[in-house]
Amino acid sequence: FAPEYIRAIAPYQAGKPISEVAREFGLDPQKIVKLASNENPCGMPPSAKQAVQHVLDETGRYPDANGFELKKVLSERYDVPQSWITLGNGSNDILDLAARTFVQAGQSILFSEYSFLVYALVAKAIGAKGIQVPSVNFGHDLMAMLKAVRDDTRLIFIANPNNPTGTFLQPVDIETFLDKVPSNVVVVIDEAYNEYLDSSIQYDSTAWVKKYPNLLVSRTFSKAYGLAGLRVGFGLAQPELTDLLNRVRQPFNVNALAQAAAVAALNDKTFLEKSARINADGYRYLTGAFEEMGLEYVPSHGNFVLVRVGNDDGAGTRVNLELLKKGIIVRPVNAYGLPKWLRVSIGLPEENRAFVKALKEIMA
Ligand code: PMP
Repeated sequence: FAPEYIRAIAPYQAGKPISEVAREFGLDPQKIVKLASNENPCGMPPSAKQAVQHVLDETGRYPDANGFELKKVLSERYDVPQSWITLGNGSNDILDLAARTFVQAGQSILFSEYSFLVYALVAKAIGAKGIQVPSVNFGHDLMAMLKAVRDDTRLIFIANPNNPTGTFLQPVDIETFLDKVPSNVVVVIDEAYNEYLDSSIQYDSTAWVKKYPNLLVSRTFSKAYGLAGLRVGFGLAQPELTDLLNRVRQPFNVNALAQAAAVAALNDKTFLEKSARINADGYRYLTGAFEEMGLEYVPSHGNFVLVRVGNDDGAGTRVNLELLKKGIIVRPVNAYGLPKWLRVSIGLPEENRAFVKALKEIMA
């Protein structure tokens, strides 16, 4: 039924759900450890759970189509007017909106090799040309991306930190890039993992939004804020871009529970700090174990690590299957062109220990 460019889309493979793995491998779901989707192992903040309870009585009505309360808190937090904020059903919605708003079928969208698969997906879904620029050291090669800009390029996706590699672009390099990008090309800086950055390397992307009229910064509540299941994210941009995005946005794209939970999560500094601390400790533990096992990994600034589990192109699939049999779900990254590697999300201490124990048994 669909046009050729739709039929050519390879379906996105999300992390396997616990129930599916339990059924497939005859395991007790309670004993399964899922470190596959870069979720927050602390779950949802208790403050957000409470906020959701309070709005349950009103969910017979539509949510606020403009997300006034959430935008109010965001506008104070990021020091921008509410007219600079676009709310999304997860930040994937913002990425998709950007493609649908700024790009027309046949035009091109740039992104890096080894960057988030959704960039290629949203390009394909609108019949645009997705141009993948070769990466350097598993990260973005911004100068190569600049050179790859063509007359028909309308959008560039940059992830900082990047998924699945965890690489981090220095703010000074991003700024140089933004200075040089043609002004008719919209740049999306996808900062899904920003809240995990060490304070020593945190940077102020809002200042860039104020400076560059063609910049859209996207953020999510799915990671450090622990609301992946509720689906809420947002974009920051000058009103010219925001206005266009909001014309294309579905009117009620962020549900009432998600809006209330996001307000609570934004105000819950304790939860955010706890999430970052557990992540930093887990990162040290996991990378220490990889070093001890002599496994190569890519230093990561996110809540996950990419680890090389063998030398042949079957390694990722093979080790992943052995892990599944032991009740550990991680993410194979074959679809990213990394068949020797697995991406593991950083979990709670006991989850990380279970993963390392299983991996050691498999690699022994
Ligand atoms: N951007 C990046 C780089 C991601 O890794 C993810 C989640 N995997 C997202 C965006 C989308 O997350 P969400 O839609 O849950 O906000």
